[in-house]
Amino acid sequence: MKLILLGAPGAGKGTQAEIIAERLSVPIISTGNILKEAVREGTELGLKAKSFMDKGELVPDELIIGIVSERLAQPDCADGFILDGVPRTVAQAEALEEMGVVIDRVVNIDVPDEIIVPRITGRRSCRQCGSSYHVEFKTPKQEGVCDKCGGELVTRSDDEESTVKNRLRVYHETTEQLIDYYSGKGKLREVNGDGEMCDITRAILEALEA
Ligand code: AMP
Repeated sequence: MKLILLGAPGAGKGTQAEIIAERLSVPIISTGNILKEAVREGTELGLKAKSFMDKGELVPDELIIGIVSERLAQPDCADGFILDGVPRTVAQAEALEEMGVVIDRVVNIDVPDEIIVPRITGRRSCRQCGSSYHVEFKTPKQEGVCDKCGGELVTRSDDEESTVKNRLRVYHETTEQLIDYYSGKGKLREVNGDGEMCDITRAILEALEA
C-alpha cells in the first residue's frame, strides 16, 4: 500500500499514520519530522529549513523533493509506505510521479479550522528528543518534563497561535489544491477527522479498501 495522508496541520495525520503503519507494516515518511530532527541537530538541511518552518511557511519544493527521493530509495519502502505531510504542493505531487512512484490511495482527513487551532497550540515538544505531548490530550507524568528523556517541554515556535493561523492559511491557499488533484485521478477518499481516534482509524482502513 502506497498511501498519502492529506489534511491540514493538526488534522491528526501523524497520529493516524503511526497506527495505520503498524497495521500495514509499512514505514512512515514524514517530511515534518525529518525537518524537525534536522533543525534540532543543526544540519545543513535544518539550517536551510528553519526560517520557513518558524514562520509557518512551506520549505522550498526542491529541498522536500530531495528528502523524499532519498528516503523512498531505501529498501524498506519497496513494498509500501505512508506519506505524512507530503506532498504539500502540486509541484511535489508531480515530482513523485516523475520519480515513478505510483500512489494507491490518498486519504484526506477533514477537520474544521476552529478545532485545529486549540489542538496545535496545546502541543508541547521535548527540547531534547522531540517527543510530543498535549496539555489536554497527552499530558506528561510530571508537568513540563519529558517522560522519555527528562528534557524540558516547550511550545515550538511553529505551534504558537499566530504561526498556526499562517500554517492554516498556507494549507488553504496551496495544499488544499491536492484534494482536487488526486480526486481527478480517482484516488481520493474523504474521512471525517473530528471524532474518536479509533473511529477515524477505522474510517481510514475502510477508505483503503473502497
Ligand atoms: P508538519 O509537522 O508536517 O506540519 O511540518 C512542520 C513544518 O515543516 C511545516 O510547517 C513546513 O514548514 C515544513 N514542511 C513539512 N513538510 C513539508 C512539505 N512537504 N513541503 C513544504 N514544507 C514542509
